Amino acid sequence: MSGDKKVAIVTGANKGIGLAITKGLARKFSGDVYLTARNEERGLAAIKKLKDEEGVTAHFHQLDIEDDESVKRIRDFMKEKYGGIDVLVNNAATAFLSDPEIAPCIGYDKPPSEPFSVQAEVTIRINYFGLRRVCGILFPILKPGARVVNITSDSGWLSLIIKKPDLKAKLGSDDLTVEELDEIMKDFVKAAEEGNHKEKGYGQSSYCISKVGISALSRIQHQIFEKEGLDKVVNHAHPGFVNTDLTNHKGPSNTDDGARSGIYGALLPPNTPVRGKFLWEDCREMDWVNGDFDYDYKPEREEKS
Ligand code: NAP
Repeated sequence: MSGDKKVAIVTGANKGIGLAITKGLARKFSGDVYLTARNEERGLAAIKKLKDEEGVTAHFHQLDIEDDESVKRIRDFMKEKYGGIDVLVNNAATAFLSDPEIAPCIGYDKPPSEPFSVQAEVTIRINYFGLRRVCGILFPILKPGARVVNITSDSGWLSLIIKKPDLKAKLGSDDLTVEELDEIMKDFVKAAEEGNHKEKGYGQSSYCISKVGISALSRIQHQIFEKEGLDKVVNHAHPGFVNTDLTNHKGPSNTDDGARSGIYGALLPPNTPVRGKFLWEDCREMDWVNGDFDYDYKPEREEKS
């Protein structure tokens, strides 16, 4: 074990916002930073790109958030080399460009690549249950004072997506458990298969539901951390509408802008009051449970971090 050296991990970091978060952390974090990717070749190419184009050094470790064994391998490596993990940024995610909620926002007008039921199964499996898997396996080795950021989205804004009052109340409840949340995510996939997801109050977007799930999960994780009393902090962060593959390159913000809230959450100082919060792209704390969603809510551009 390399003494007291700190370590940060970013998932899905071979491109897009994850790559920019890795770059920012490699510059600002006082410890080693791991760019992780499911595909080793793409991950190593990204490490080289950071070195050659930005002059920053990051380390690489393979991590597929859908694969138990892959997550266990990085857990064992981090435990052995660093005695645990100091920063975890759960960034990896997927979206179908033809997702009915996403497609109009990114000017995608081709027919759906997959039926809605398949989109639902894949998106929830990767975005929600993949992140759940990573947290389930890596949280036991988080060090005291660890910082976790779950990258979510304004697309997962509770009142925007969930219109049925009872479902909304359940998802925003302080009493919601991980098991209950898992069941809601599974129920959405089942409803998508049966074609009654809209009637059941889930709306029409698998991506949005997966991000609702991530924000609800972050709130539960926050309560668990607070009970532990070891200054472990989890926040859920929206990066903005960013120019990446996921948005068909239609987002107006660049990836450095998109990385801002994730980096902010990752570097919060000891005993920060910013705990269990939904962080907007400009790092403002937002009320995910009771706040209304305002499409015109523009980010503040001055630096908060
Ligand atoms: P992106 O460019 O498509 O990058 C997604 C990353 O996730 C890629 O590195 C991808 O790896 C990785 N990934 C997908 N499945 C994975 C798996 N099973 N295991 C490990 N990595 C996996 O997307 P992005 O726009 O940067 O998005 C980053 C995060 O920001 C996501 O959580 C997204 O939902 C969120 N977000 C983005 C926007 C936006 O406007 N772009 C807005 C709100 C929220 P591969 O290259 O191997 O596919």
